[in-house]
Amino acid sequence: MIEDAKSRPTLPSDWEDPESLASLIDQLRVQRPKLNVRRIREAYFLAECAHRGQTRLSGEAYVTHPLAVAHILADLQMDEATIVAALLHDVLEDSPTSAETIERMFGKEVLHLVEGVTKLKFPPIEETSTKKQAAEARVRFAETMRKMLMAMTRDFRVMVIKLADRLHNMQTLGVMPEEKRLRIARETMDIYAPLAGRLGIWQIKWQLEDLAFQYLHPQEFARVSELIAKTRSKREEELNETIVTLKEKLEQNGFRNFEVSGRPKHLYSVYQKMYVHGFEFEEIYDLIGVRVIVEDESDCYKVLGLVHELWKPIPGLFYDYIAKPKSNGYQSLHTKVIGPHGEPLEVQIRTLDMHQMAEFGVAAHWQYKPGTGQKMTLEDHTRMQRLRKQLLDFSAETASGSEFLQTVSMDLFSEQVFAFTPKGDVIDLPHGATPIDFAFRIHTQVGMKTVGAKVNGRIVKLDHELENGDIVEVLTRRDSMPSVDWLRFAKTISARSKIRAFLRQENREANIHRGKDALEREIKGLGFDAKQVLTEERLSAAAAALAKGDSKSLLASVGEGLISVERVVGLLTETERRQQRKAKAGPVHTAAGVISVGPGGVDNVAFKRSKCCLPVPGDETIGYISKGRGVILHRKLCPNATKLAEASPDRIVSVNWPKDKQPWAVNLRIHTVNRQGLLADITAVLGESKTNVSAATIRTLPNQTALLDMTLDVPDLRHLQGVTSKIAQLPEVISVQRTFSGKGSAKA
Ligand code: MN
Repeated sequence: MIEDAKSRPTLPSDWEDPESLASLIDQLRVQRPKLNVRRIREAYFLAECAHRGQTRLSGEAYVTHPLAVAHILADLQMDEATIVAALLHDVLEDSPTSAETIERMFGKEVLHLVEGVTKLKFPPIEETSTKKQAAEARVRFAETMRKMLMAMTRDFRVMVIKLADRLHNMQTLGVMPEEKRLRIARETMDIYAPLAGRLGIWQIKWQLEDLAFQYLHPQEFARVSELIAKTRSKREEELNETIVTLKEKLEQNGFRNFEVSGRPKHLYSVYQKMYVHGFEFEEIYDLIGVRVIVEDESDCYKVLGLVHELWKPIPGLFYDYIAKPKSNGYQSLHTKVIGPHGEPLEVQIRTLDMHQMAEFGVAAHWQYKPGTGQKMTLEDHTRMQRLRKQLLDFSAETASGSEFLQTVSMDLFSEQVFAFTPKGDVIDLPHGATPIDFAFRIHTQVGMKTVGAKVNGRIVKLDHELENGDIVEVLTRRDSMPSVDWLRFAKTISARSKIRAFLRQENREANIHRGKDALEREIKGLGFDAKQVLTEERLSAAAAALAKGDSKSLLASVGEGLISVERVVGLLTETERRQQRKAKAGPVHTAAGVISVGPGGVDNVAFKRSKCCLPVPGDETIGYISKGRGVILHRKLCPNATKLAEASPDRIVSVNWPKDKQPWAVNLRIHTVNRQGLLADITAVLGESKTNVSAATIRTLPNQTALLDMTLDVPDLRHLQGVTSKIAQLPEVISVQRTFSGKGSAKA
């Protein structure tokens, strides 16, 4: 162990590479002439120091494990940073070595890989007794998977290291106690092998499957191994003969740079054919296969012609995955022919590039390409993008995932889309999400200023549905702002609520205006000077007294009809009224006195509500004493009331109107985003508060919002306010207003 975690261990001057390290370095040197050998040595040395004193269950020094993992990755021809990170992959977790030390010695890239591997942990698959527990465990697992896949897609190398780590642990699983062995083997079969398949690293996938198979089904494993071993010598003879024949044929036809090899069948796939699909061992013909690797694509087809000249093709068993690659990018020609011994023989023909992609998958990307300077080409980018898509798109291909992984992933990923910023950051969004959602997830200000988006380099409309693996570039403009349409495009709750908040704010401006007008009218109606009364100072004081926030919020509340004009004016004009009282020095009377209406009213006068504003108990109400029709009640806010008061002030009385059981009709206008079932949601809110709806009409506006006009029966203002604030809280609702003039109230 390192005493001081911050110190940098230095290679002793008499350092000699242990044999296994020397062979690793030799192998890497062949692959890449410019290898920084010292860096590899130092990584090994740091790991050796960090793990000193630790042993594996087998009794070996712990450092043999990271070294073995590095060997596996060298076989995959991974890049130098990956090899260094592999040597250090257990250092952060199992020793006091700090992240700073790794960064200082090997740089950010290596640290990021080591940290990635350290964090990449799959939760154990729990044994559960009840269905409910099982479902909960699956949800937890899926959630962790999601986070990990996100991390993985940022840098595939993390997962490649993890797979190599798992492969070595599987190779040395024999020393583990049985129970642990089974758990790890199951996890390997369920999670790691399918993930290796997803990433296209078939070399690792096969090995993981065969190793897990050995522990999970020891009897079947023994039987399959035995069957294969028995027929091996005969098969090898036949195979050699086939290879020689094919090589001669190719040479005769002018081929020079090519490779013909026998293709081994892995045990687990034989087992699956026998035990899952019910074939007899003798029926599995493709135990021998031949692979031809040539220089370029046109050669593939030439070779195919020659193979078909040599041996008779079996109709219907030719597949051209070059012209039509598999969804994971796999390319090759596959044909089945009647081989030299009268048995079916599968021949695969591909270029070296295609071969590396097929064997190494995502790992092929980091393989050293002489003369390329290791720069990412456009083709590399496209390939990476396809791989990300492939990895994330669990529902697309069912064949390569285990049943367990499939169920978990299907639950989760069918509902989710992972898109990327041009820098490669992952943004996870619900299915159906659009560039608007993406923009708001990056930053609210980006969302607000969005004017368009490019998906995979192409301009798209804002309602474009994003797909897994899309690279999204948001286009913004400083003077742009959200429109009501966006509520239709946005699928995420957070984007929607931000857009709605913005629209409300816009609406608020209108309400502030209306509120100010109403106050002004009232003040003038009382004979005061509006300019003197309606000052910022007095408004702020009134707002504070009424707990309405600032003066603007107070005005907005008045405009929305959430607080009565009279109450506010009462507060605003306190000074003036006090002076008036002093001047009059007698009991206060309004111009024409006060009357009481309703069952509690002592005056017992006949009264009617005016249709223009439909007052209810609790509203600031005035009465107009009509000729022979009793008292007509108006809300003080009502412009008609103001007109009447100006025309015949002596007929206006203040009204005292307590609530009773009688319901009164009022009109509400609700502006919402148009969606099915919304009316039902609103009706539910009304139902909860036992509010009767006597009429409702919906009008769809061209911008996909809707105006909903409703007539409700309420006992008083308080009840109405309770209902409106609940409706306003529904996510689709843009505004709720009580209408009292114009069309909105005409049908009352
Ligand atoms: Mn490890």
